[in-house]
Amino acid sequence: MRLLIMGPQGVGKGTQAELLAKHYGIPAISTGDIFRYNLKNNTPLGQEAKGFMNQGLLVPDELTNKIVKDRLAMDDVAKGWILDGYPRNAAQVEALDTMLEELGTPLDAAVALTADRSVLMERMTKRAEIEGRADDTPEAIEKRLDVYEHETAPILDIYRDRSKLVEVDGVGEISDISAAIIARL
Ligand code: AMP
Repeated sequence: MRLLIMGPQGVGKGTQAELLAKHYGIPAISTGDIFRYNLKNNTPLGQEAKGFMNQGLLVPDELTNKIVKDRLAMDDVAKGWILDGYPRNAAQVEALDTMLEELGTPLDAAVALTADRSVLMERMTKRAEIEGRADDTPEAIEKRLDVYEHETAPILDIYRDRSKLVEVDGVGEISDISAAIIARL
């Protein structure tokens, strides 16, 4: 199973990606987690990504596409994968198309989780308090929701046109949401 999990910040992508990964026995690959790991360990990649992340902006495509390409070349993706938080704009969709064509591994579905902006702001603010993520300032949260609306939401249409889009309501019990996703796949 090869899946994308899409949706705005705070909609529960990470949680659902982990549950789906367990269900299908495949790795969940979060570009945000990869960037955060590099930020924390102050690697060259982390240093390059830092300014963008802290402002809630997308890290440049060239860097992002490369980490995904490298990750999809690893051994543990033979049975499939879930990409959480990638692609996030039209250029990344194109880059992913090329990667998957080269690998000969087509995408099965793009799962999009939906929720109102007010619900998302509330969840993100709570997460910021609990997890203390450096990139969870109120300004960065607002900025990320704007970036999602302008850059990422439009790419859902690309997957809809390809009949790959599976839209699921992201508000509700975690287990109900994952059951709804699995039922649709
Ligand atoms: P996330 O945990 O998915 O919200 O990602 C945290 C931050 O990492 C984002 O605000 C971006 O700065 C960066 N990031 C994660 N995924 C991508 C991506 N596909 N393209 C560009 N930047 C990304």
